Amino acid sequence: MSDCIFCKIIARQIPSQLVYEDEHAIAFKDMTPQAPTHVLIVPRKHVAGLSACGDGDQALLGHLQRVAAAVAEKAGIASGYRLVTNNGRSAGQSVDHLHYHLLGGRSMQWPPG
Ligand code: 5GP
Ligand code: ZN
Repeated sequence: MSDCIFCKIIARQIPSQLVYEDEHAIAFKDMTPQAPTHVLIVPRKHVAGLSACGDGDQALLGHLQRVAAAVAEKAGIASGYRLVTNNGRSAGQSVDHLHYHLLGGRSMQWPPG
């Protein structure tokens, strides 16, 4: 997707602070951090969001959560973090390339706003 900001980050056309990458996923620091640790876990494959995923994406979705857990461990927040995906504008999604926010390093409120 030529106009997708996360595809551009994956293609190294836009710089980012990468914290993890493998064949299927990358993770980089959010440019507007909402917590001391705020990392985006992103599939290399362009898919608009969770609702755009199909049965064939099941393994990828599981992989993204495993990556998130590994990044949390590496960041030293394994004892407490939040993993969230915003699906759709009303939920706060602003980039239409599936991603999970990994947030930690502070106490969290529930319910979220
Ligand atoms: P959403 O609002 O779609 O759930 O999350 C998109 C996130 O991407 C936001 O938290 C925003 O700060 C982050 N973001 C948007 N553009 C860039 C960028 O170019 N670089 C980085 N590192 N983060 C970005
Ligand atoms: Zn994309």
